[in-house]
Amino acid sequence: MGILEGKKGLILGLANNKSIAWGVAQSCHREGAELGFNFLGEQLEKRVRPLAEKVNSTLIESMDVGDDAEMDAFFAKVEAKWGKMDFMIHSIAFANKDALRNPFSQCTREDFQLAMDISAYSFVACAQRAAKIMNDGGSMVTMTYLGAERVIPGYGMMGVAKAALEASTRYLADDLGKSRGIRVNAVSSGPIRTLAASAVGDFRELMAKSARGSMLGRNVSQDEVGNTTAYLASDLASGVSCEVHYVDAGFHVGAGDPGE
Ligand code: NAD
Repeated sequence: MGILEGKKGLILGLANNKSIAWGVAQSCHREGAELGFNFLGEQLEKRVRPLAEKVNSTLIESMDVGDDAEMDAFFAKVEAKWGKMDFMIHSIAFANKDALRNPFSQCTREDFQLAMDISAYSFVACAQRAAKIMNDGGSMVTMTYLGAERVIPGYGMMGVAKAALEASTRYLADDLGKSRGIRVNAVSSGPIRTLAASAVGDFRELMAKSARGSMLGRNVSQDEVGNTTAYLASDLASGVSCEVHYVDAGFHVGAGDPGE
């Protein structure tokens, strides 16, 4: 029997088969969960729908997390279909490329607000709606990166947004944990080549450095992030909340790169 048998969960942020959300979806499906998905716009729907159907999903609806009305409509559809749900995975981020690559001191108000809105506030906005239809003792997980706490060249504004996302995780964990027993955690993945990652400056070099500097001497896969996320969504992690859980082959502890 899978660790998510009998549970229903949302996976938000699937774009294509390279997405971290796809690694999570496959793990959660294998562990027995019934899954629901959102997609952003018709272009992505063409990619998301066939993938979601591969993991037997029948709940595949549009939602732009920058739009409150769309969010309300999406969660209303989830409630109409499922009634209650057990977990939610938030795997969404967006920033203008310039805000990652230009000197951070030049970040515009618009770029700052957009990155914070889609990459940090959207987790709060999803959590407040999901909590209303989540069984007590449920689980929420978001995706973060080491750039939240260390200066990573080429990550710029997204590092600031991830710092806000990690702090939001802790405050949500306190709020929803005390009131409802809902656990809220973040997974900090090492670099993985995805659509979103293509916005990061010099990503090839970042991947090479991460592999050389990690304890395992390699990068991680979307499946490894998926498996850890499935565990956090499950009752096996019933005592784990308010945590940033690294899936980065140990890089964050700083084995360092002797070649640097
Ligand atoms: P991805 O491009 O596959 O996923 C990003 C998703 O965000 C896409 O599905 C996109 O449609 C969605 N999105 C963007 N704006 C949205 C909006 N307004 N409304 C709804 N959805 C929106 O890339 P990914 O790398 O799988 O990213 C998933 C998460 O993992 C992100 O939070 C990212 O920062 C994080 N992360 C990625 C890496 C990496 O190296 N790839 C490392 C650590 C953390």
